Formats: sequence, C-alpha cells, structure tokens
Amino acid sequence: MTLFDSPAFEGHEGVHAFFDEKSGLKCIIAVHSTARGPAAGGCRMWPFPSADAALEDALRLSRAMSYKNAMADLDLGGGKAVIIGDSRTQKTPVLFEAFGRAVEEVGGKYWTAEDVGVSPADLMHARKTTRYVAGLTGHDAASGDPSPVTAEGVFRGIALGVRRALNRDLDGVTVAIQGVGHVGAYLADKLHAAGAKLVITDVNEEALREVAERTGARVVAPGAIFDAEAEVFAPCALGGAINADTLPRLRAKVIAGGANNQLADLEIGRAVYEHGMLYLPDYVINGGGIINVAGEIRAIARGEAFDPAWVETKLARLMQTLDEILDLSKTEHRPTHEVANEIAKARISGAAEKRAAA
Ligand code: NAD
Repeated sequence: MTLFDSPAFEGHEGVHAFFDEKSGLKCIIAVHSTARGPAAGGCRMWPFPSADAALEDALRLSRAMSYKNAMADLDLGGGKAVIIGDSRTQKTPVLFEAFGRAVEEVGGKYWTAEDVGVSPADLMHARKTTRYVAGLTGHDAASGDPSPVTAEGVFRGIALGVRRALNRDLDGVTVAIQGVGHVGAYLADKLHAAGAKLVITDVNEEALREVAERTGARVVAPGAIFDAEAEVFAPCALGGAINADTLPRLRAKVIAGGANNQLADLEIGRAVYEHGMLYLPDYVINGGGIINVAGEIRAIARGEAFDPAWVETKLARLMQTLDEILDLSKTEHRPTHEVANEIAKARISGAAEKRAAA
C-alpha cells in the first residue's frame, strides 16, 4: 500500500520525513489539520520495527491530535512527530538539535512538545534550533511537564465514569493501570489518595516497584493486566490496548486511561459498547496535557507569563464536554467514541469552512 492509499493518511495536509546523517535522526512529522490554528502535538521516540510502522503511528496520532485539540476547544490543529530510535540508548543533544531543525523547516505549521520517550530536557536541545517547541521549563511562558495535568484530567474522567456506570465514588473501587510512566504514575498517586485500590503493570520494573511502594498497588505481569479483577481499566502505555484479543478478557465496567489510540480500530469501540462497558474517549479524557502545552503557546504568542488559571478553566470545560458526550451516547444509544468523533469532525470542518470563507 502506498502512502496516499493508507486509510490513516486520509485528510492529512502534509507529511514530512527527515534524515540527518550526523546525528542519525530519522523522523516523520505529520500535519493533519491547521484549520483551527497551527498543528500541535508531541514528539514520540520509539524503536519502530520499520519506517512504515513509524509512519502509520505518526498519521494515526496526528489525526487524533486534531480531534483532541478541537475537543479541548483550542485554537490549534493536529500534528505529531515520531523519531525512530531507542530513547534509552540513542538520545543525544545533537539528535534533538537536528529534530529542532526539522520542526523549524515545517515553518510554524507544527508545534512540538514531549510524548513517550521524550522529556522536557530533550526539548531544551530542540529549542536551540526551533521556535516552535512547548512543554519546556525555565522561561516565563514555560508550562513544564504536561503529564500531571494529563493525569488530573484522566483522574477526573475516571471519577465521572465510575459515578455514571457504578453510581459510586472512587473509594474502594479497583483500577487496573497498564503503564506507570509519567501519566500512569501521577494517576496512581491521585487514585490512591482518593481511596481506590490499584492493580498495576509495566515493562519497566523500577517504575513499577516505585509506584507499588508508594500506593500499595498489587503488581501483575504485563500480559496479566487484562485479566485483573477491576471495575476500571486504565490504559496508560501505548496504543491498541483494546483489541479483539484483550476485550473478551476485560472484566472492567469502565475503560478510561491516558494512552492515545486505545481502541485498535473503530469496530472494537462498537464491541466495547455492545459489551455494556463505558469507554471514555481517549482524546477527550487525556486532553489535559495539550491544554497545558497550549497555555505555553498562548503565552509565547502574547508575550506573557504562563497562566495556570487559563489551563484549569479549559480543563474544567473539557470535563463538561466529556459529560455531554456520555449524555448523548446514553440518549442516542450510540458508542461514546462515535459521538466524540462526530463532534470533533464537525468542529474541524466548521473551522475549515470559516477559514475558506474569510
Ligand atoms: P511514558 O513513556 O512515561 O509511560 C509509558 C509507560 O508504559 C512506560 O513506563 C513503559 O515502560 C510502559 N509500557 C510500554 N509498553 C508496555 C506494555 N506492553 N505493558 C505495560 N507497560 C508498558 O509515557 P507517558 O507520558 O506516561 O504517556 C503514556 C500514554 O499517554 C501514551 O500513550 C501517550 O501518548 C499518552 N499521553 C501522554 C500525555 C502526557 O502528558 N505525557 C498526554 C496525552 C497522552
């Protein structure tokens, strides 16, 4: 299949591939839409098995960013960058300087930030060579690590889902968390403080041990998390956690987590609905991080300091939107992801029409 025939490519404004011999950088920047404003989305570093796999991920993630940014009511479009490489062994300052040059070449149509495998410290190197980078520390407009805000949104979303599906609060509810990295670890702390019981897994044993020590969580092997006795399943690792193999094993009533692209495909989302499980659309529940990043882009554009109150207002509004999606799903007897996709697409095409008319 060529790029233009790939279903994931559909609707993309541009896809940019970069290779830098000196640093070994191989990266793809996908710009899905700039209808609502410059595309914004994090940069992921991962040892993809092939360039095709990296491209597919970049395309899927960039479209999800368009939907996410529209849902959070941000003046931003959707894009994503992927760097092919192992973040544990292949990160160097020159690699991120080369990545910054790649971002700069896209000419302001794409703003980058952190994602899996990329930290604010890495982005400080990219900042030497591009203006279009947010999620940083150490300057007035800087918003810092977005993960705590992402986790806060996921935490509020889980509380909402539990209230709706189980008619109770989080005290005593068991939540199974897949992945206790940046988002998963903050989420675990918040859930523990709210009285939830935790079952956790990760392929990183050190992260697992630290979170288990802090929260008293029960640790299971990565493959066993799908069989855990839990009311809530919270995917916080990589995409595709909900698929034809895992869905029949899940006992949870609520699926709500921080990971992007949790559903392997749209059909599995319908199957989740038909199984009577409440799925909180990933790009809505995990929008806190990009709201935080948007706060930095906004502050840079206005020449002002970062304003956490603006972030909280947007996050609170996003949680209302999530509640409205769950309402519509219930009254119209439709899966939550279908309702969310429809709202996001309408917001993006509305902006595109407005721009075309201007
Ligand atoms: P992270 O890399 O810090 O954490 C991911 C964790 O998942 C790691 O600890 C990793 O070891 C673990 N993991 C990987 N494969 C696994 C597997 N098969 N089983 C169990 N654990 C596995 O990344 P993060 O920043 O916490 O992001 C987690 C997810 O949330 C990603 O999908 C990311 O795209 C999404 N997300 C993150 C943010 C944010 O603010 N960081 C915002 C929105 C969405």
